[in-house]
Amino acid sequence: MIKYDVMIIGGGAAGMFAAAVLAESAPSLRVLVLEKGPKPLVKVRVSGGGRCNLTHQCTDIRAFTQNYPRGGRELIGAFHRFGPAETRAWFETHGVPIVTLEDGCVFPRSDTSLDVISALMNTARRGQTEIRTSAEVSRIRFFDGGVEVTIGERGSETGRCLLVATGGGAFPEGIDHAIEPCVPSLFSFNTPDRDFTALAGIVVQAVQLGGPGGIKAEGELLITHTGVSGPAVLRLSSFGARGLAETGYRFDMRINWQPGQREEQVCESLTAHKQTAPRQQTGTWSPLGLPARLWKLLLERAGVDETCEWGACPLTAIRRIAAQATAFTLPISGKNRHREEFVTCGGIRLKEVDFRTMQSRVHPGLYFAGEVLDIDALTGGYNLQAAWTTAHLAAEAILAQSD
Ligand SMILES: Cc1cc2nc3c(=O)[nH]c(=O)nc-3n(C[C@H](O)[C@H](O)[C@H](O)COP(=O)(O)OP(=O)(O)OC[C@H]3O[C@@H](n4cnc5c(N)ncnc54)[C@H](O)[C@@H]3O)c2cc1C
Repeated sequence: MIKYDVMIIGGGAAGMFAAAVLAESAPSLRVLVLEKGPKPLVKVRVSGGGRCNLTHQCTDIRAFTQNYPRGGRELIGAFHRFGPAETRAWFETHGVPIVTLEDGCVFPRSDTSLDVISALMNTARRGQTEIRTSAEVSRIRFFDGGVEVTIGERGSETGRCLLVATGGGAFPEGIDHAIEPCVPSLFSFNTPDRDFTALAGIVVQAVQLGGPGGIKAEGELLITHTGVSGPAVLRLSSFGARGLAETGYRFDMRINWQPGQREEQVCESLTAHKQTAPRQQTGTWSPLGLPARLWKLLLERAGVDETCEWGACPLTAIRRIAAQATAFTLPISGKNRHREEFVTCGGIRLKEVDFRTMQSRVHPGLYFAGEVLDIDALTGGYNLQAAWTTAHLAAEAILAQSD
């Protein structure tokens, strides 16, 4: 006999949101959540530094999906049905007042993820939801009319349908789906260049970065004690996640400190500056608007003495400075966590999932939600939004099936 109507593997953001939607809409459904850890929602608790950046402001769904290096195209329709606006409304109506910060990040007004957790747990408990912790699903087996999961070494349970929401890089055996290889996304980089890391603390508001295979990213850059971080770097790590993994995180990063400008254009500006300030020493200040210490490093790399007057600076030297300003080479020797936040690039191949229902195209009755899918995004609330959306669509489809 089949014991549960729905089994959910994973008590994270996606699994618990699906459980909450199911319990609220159909309290008579027998739902079992199987969570391998000692508590559900552990990652939500620490998300956003304990404040939980639960989504991002959205004025245009297509633009919103540009923040998803993987999954953006598939999520367009999904966000139209349950997107950032619906997410805000859901939490607001479940006792979590929301605030949007200037940068568009959305948080609980109370500034604590505990309120998000309470909303999810209280709603999930309204129905007949059983949340079993320390219950790791090791195997899945499909049979006619249902599915059986093996829990650890000991037991097993059966259900009519199954939602897999195991997060990044965790796939119980028997899932029977193509999986895109998993590699990390969202990280900063280390460099062995000590003269560069001596500039730690410098922030340059706009740079253009180039990495292996022609990947590019623009935005703010922060020089750290170990290398580089900041929005441009996180973008590069996210959009270039696969190519970067193939290099073993060892490559030469190109930095254009004058984004949108080529070497010749910068050379022309510096030559014009030479004519207007011939008696000024090159190291006095940066005619390109760069921080003084960084500018001095560029001069040094260009082989130009900072006491040399612009008037005495030959065109060949000006060209070398322009080259450093537009194509500075930073050797990268590894990666680092960014404020502990990270996500996985890779997961269940999206072609094998119907995004109207989040149901498997391989096994009817099998659904996926959250980071287990080959979906990931930049920081800013986008990753949790993908979890809420896919979980909601899966829950709706399961409800429609159970009618
Ligand atoms: C430190 C940190 C901070 C973050 N902050 C933010 C943020 O502020 N905003 C944002 O949008 N994103 C943030 N993220 C990313 C975001 O947390 C994830 O994208 C999101 O949690 C994914 O939800 P999920 O339910 O798919 O996976 P998870 O939250 O990882 O949940 C999956 C659950 O499945 C369980 N599980 C796995 N395998 C099994 C198994 N075989 N049997 C039973 N259970 C299993 C796991 O124990 C886990 O509890 C952060 C990530 C980290 C690491």
